[in-house]
Amino acid sequence: LMQISIPLNFIGFIYREIRQGLADIESMFDLLGVPAEIKDKPDAPNLKAVEGRIVFDDVHFHYDANRPILKGIDFEVPAGKSVAIVGPSGAGKSTISRLLFRFYDVTGGAVLIDGQDVRDVAQKSVRDAIGMVPQDTVLFNDTIAYNIRYGRPDATDEEVREAARMAQIHDFIERLPDGYQAEVGERGLKLSGGEKQRVAIARTILKSPPILILDEATSALDTHTEREIQAALDQVSKNRTTLVIAHRLSTVVNVDQIIVLAAGEIAERGTHTELLAKDGLYTSMWARQREADEAEARLRAAKEAD
Ligand code: ATP
Repeated sequence: LMQISIPLNFIGFIYREIRQGLADIESMFDLLGVPAEIKDKPDAPNLKAVEGRIVFDDVHFHYDANRPILKGIDFEVPAGKSVAIVGPSGAGKSTISRLLFRFYDVTGGAVLIDGQDVRDVAQKSVRDAIGMVPQDTVLFNDTIAYNIRYGRPDATDEEVREAARMAQIHDFIERLPDGYQAEVGERGLKLSGGEKQRVAIARTILKSPPILILDEATSALDTHTEREIQAALDQVSKNRTTLVIAHRLSTVVNVDQIIVLAAGEIAERGTHTELLAKDGLYTSMWARQREADEAEARLRAAKEAD
């Protein structure tokens, strides 16, 4: 009886947590813990992430041994700088962010933060040092203030408001009938994708981690929303090491370095201007993106004319 009551309790706990709408990526990692194969070494020290310099040193990785995903990835993000990973769908962009988060261990080479191999330090300390703005945030069924304060539970009301201001969501919240006390999530107010993303950004601003992973939205947002989100992202990534997982190219123009991933290898790297001058893979991706954006703009204009 004892043996069965524990797992049942645990399932009950998981069930309640899921019902609570706990599905944004960080909480999911907290909830489900580490995949069985990822274990901290005995007495692993905490990561000392003072600056947030990231190094991928000849990183190899596969989910299945017969299908390599990353085949010798080398790059560095100096502390406070930004790097964007671009490349065709399935190239392994999100996989790179999962390895940095140590959701999986590399199968060759190493991932280092401030010179420390992420496998040698306590995994929780790695996650504490990284803020993740996922492409689709699922909010808790609670107030909007609660959802922002989740980034740092001891934050004052004024700090919550300041974070919301920086994330360009404060004015929107103020206009809600219940303001910061408005209930959101499944059983409350439904926010748009862009609004939810700005709540996630406000949360991350409060958490204030030295390293940031931005998993950019796959879907096109309207120009106004995209501009607001970009302004919010610029705020949160200022003076923070930032890894942008870019499914679209519109937001990578200003990053310090763009890495073009293709077939598990780095095909090109450089700034937006440098890559356009190379007239290679990036240039053709850029041209295709522009065509898609223009087609979409025409479609939207036609819809509005209807
Ligand atoms: P997209 O732009 O479409 O999101 P991506 O470049 O981010 O793609 P990844 O999510 O990193 O691509 O996936 C790289 C490859 O690894 C894909 O072919 C995918 O099918 C495979 N893959 C991803 N996650 C797993 C997993 N958990 N188990 C097995 N294969 C996986």
